[in-house]
Amino acid sequence: MPQLSQSALLGLSLQELTVLVADAGQPAYRARQLFDALYGVRVAATDQISTLPQEFRRELADKGYAVGQPTIEKKFVSRDGTVRYLIGFADGQSVETVWMPEGDGGETGDGSEAGEPERRRWDRATICVSSQVGCAVDCQFCLTALLGVKRNLSAGEIVGQICAVLNDQHVSPPEDRVNLVFMGMGEPFLNYDNFIKAVRLLVEGVGIAESRMTVSTAGIVPRIYDFGQEPVRTKLAISLNASNDELRSRLMPLNRKWNLEKLIATARDFPLRNRERLTFEYVLLHEVNDSAQNAREVVELIRGLRAKVNLIALNPGPGIDFRTPEEERVLQFQKILVAAGVPTFIRRPRGRDIYAACGQLKRTVEG
Ligand code: SAH
Repeated sequence: MPQLSQSALLGLSLQELTVLVADAGQPAYRARQLFDALYGVRVAATDQISTLPQEFRRELADKGYAVGQPTIEKKFVSRDGTVRYLIGFADGQSVETVWMPEGDGGETGDGSEAGEPERRRWDRATICVSSQVGCAVDCQFCLTALLGVKRNLSAGEIVGQICAVLNDQHVSPPEDRVNLVFMGMGEPFLNYDNFIKAVRLLVEGVGIAESRMTVSTAGIVPRIYDFGQEPVRTKLAISLNASNDELRSRLMPLNRKWNLEKLIATARDFPLRNRERLTFEYVLLHEVNDSAQNAREVVELIRGLRAKVNLIALNPGPGIDFRTPEEERVLQFQKILVAAGVPTFIRRPRGRDIYAACGQLKRTVEG
């Protein structure tokens, strides 16, 4: 158990490690060795960094540096192969991180995988990553909202979740292909700087391509704009969840601040890359937002956008006052969007039996 007084190496950029190494009077190439050990080899302790001389490893420890990889406190395995990890940090806080060996069911949805032979068991494995302890956004259908927000995760804690899960699954990018979705606990765009720093470390250090990562936001409009300007960024998903302002403000109180007009205007301005598409997520709530009229309103809202829609039938939970629509209504909703030319996918629930599915992450300690 790392002591609170220790400072974590995980989360430091190559540039920051370069300063640290220079301060220690070591040659500059040691920074790259540290960087590779932290993010590429994903060591759990400084004494495992075999490329560094013993003496420098000891010096790091004496100065109070530790790797700072979070610990797996609990692990729940679903019937469908999904694994929900409870991941603990040095201050005793924890989040959930989910391993989905066959992806999240929404897939990339751009057809790029079609016809690709399945190379390995985890060819489309996806890790669902948390960005905050709890969440402040207060979406009425989401269990994480019930926790409130405790704190932001640091860049090192965001990357650390992924390192811990990769190690546990014996998976090593870039040889093993892994997708990341920043759709776990928290609102990534309310922890923007740490999220962006984590993405860079994941690309440069861990070896996961930006094109294999997707961030989902509840709709923090100014940050969507900032995100579009980032030189290194993931793909973008926006949680739409309602087809008009009246409904959306009821389900997602943040809509009173950033309404659909502002949200959709920002989406229209978003600088998409070649062949890139936006994703809109839409949680279907029985007889609340799942009618044919709602579907037609969604079509109008996103008309002309290069986008696809992922439909998620509500994953239920204690304290959530909505019901899951029947399969038929979900298919009906999808049919209307598809008929209007909107590529629309139904995200299969993953790990519902272990509380690992969308909107169910609340640090449940029972299996
Ligand atoms: N805060 C971010 C990312 C986390 S939520 C966001 O809001 O986008 C990830 C997705 O799960 C969102 O699209 C959200 O609308 C959806 N979701 C939340 N609660 C859900 C539930 N109970 N059932 C199904 N999907 C849910």
